[in-house]
Amino acid sequence: MQPERATDIPQPPAKDALQRPLRNLRISVTDRCNLRCSYCMPEDAYRWLPRRELLSFEEIARAVDALTACGVSRVRLTGGEPLLRRDLSHLVELLARRTELEDIALTTNGLRLASQAEELRRAGLGRVTVSLDTLRSARYAELTRRDGLAQALGGIRAAVAAGFASVKLNTVVMRDRNDDEIPDLVAFGRKHGVEVRFIEYMDVGGATRWSPADVVPRDEILERVENRFGPLEPVQPADGPPSSAPAQRFRLEDGTTIGVISSTTAPFCGSCDRTRLTADGRLFTCLYARDGHDLREPLRSGASNTELVALVRGIWSTRDDRGAEERLALEDRGALADADEL
Ligand code: SAM
Ligand code: SF4
Ligand code: SF4
Repeated sequence: MQPERATDIPQPPAKDALQRPLRNLRISVTDRCNLRCSYCMPEDAYRWLPRRELLSFEEIARAVDALTACGVSRVRLTGGEPLLRRDLSHLVELLARRTELEDIALTTNGLRLASQAEELRRAGLGRVTVSLDTLRSARYAELTRRDGLAQALGGIRAAVAAGFASVKLNTVVMRDRNDDEIPDLVAFGRKHGVEVRFIEYMDVGGATRWSPADVVPRDEILERVENRFGPLEPVQPADGPPSSAPAQRFRLEDGTTIGVISSTTAPFCGSCDRTRLTADGRLFTCLYARDGHDLREPLRSGASNTELVALVRGIWSTRDDRGAEERLALEDRGALADADEL
């Protein structure tokens, strides 16, 4: 008899070739975006996936069940811009029914968050991260090639008001573009009760204009915070978010916490338990992987739950990715992909 859900199939947690478990899943629900951030979508034109190529919410939920049976317990909805996907709260509802999932989070640019925050919260979304690289309107327009700061700020306020378990900010730090705003962003986070996480500019995916000279390393980020606010203390992991989250957290004397994600200068591949499902159903086992494993074809051609679980297990068990560490070892490091390849 066919098990009703993949999670009904008893399984020991999957380990990859380097003995890393599978825990965190990022789900891109769309490839589209309403911004054009210079570190992510710098080109003039993009070709988006036709709608029929996107996984339906039901297909995503079945894929999640197969991944959960192999160890996934935390999911993060992302994109492109996830709030462009119509009726996203329905997907959140489907996922929230899955009791094996301890954490359902969202990363968004916040532009459409003000109108959706409450509904997403009611649907069962636990945590929200809003990406915000500047507090200055003209700079926001320059960095994202759209005029959206007021909307993004409205989204942050709405997320705080909706009462999510946590609201955080993601700030990608780029030399001479927004690094002078690091202390102002800390002050903004403190005022609104949201933790800011500074991310080193990475040479991933769409970052076709990346250059090592644009990266502001972790220690410099910390120094700029300390110069304005005084000493930072590392926060021990027991105090931190309930996962092997890549952010290292620090606390100011007044209790304000910040995070730094140093994926470029100090990668953490050794403990990486992350995988990503693209909007068209490919499973990528590393941010730097060039090819994904197609789950859409088996999902659409009637694969059983047992077969889906075996497929995911097989993919994870052969995984030996250490993309960021390998990039770090390169002597002549430029952008990973060029525009044509994307
Ligand atoms: N559109 C949503 C947003 O911006 O929050 C979700 C998708 S976006 C790709 C997810 C996160 O990746 C954002 O916080 C963004 O700042 C970050 N990101 C994108 N490109 C990056 C890069 N080259 N280096 C570091 N972080 C990057
Ligand atoms: Fe869009 Fe997010 Fe990429 Fe910016 S970082 S272009 S908001 S997907
Ligand atoms: Fe994980 Fe790949 Fe990022 Fe390393 S580069 S932390 S293996 S996703």
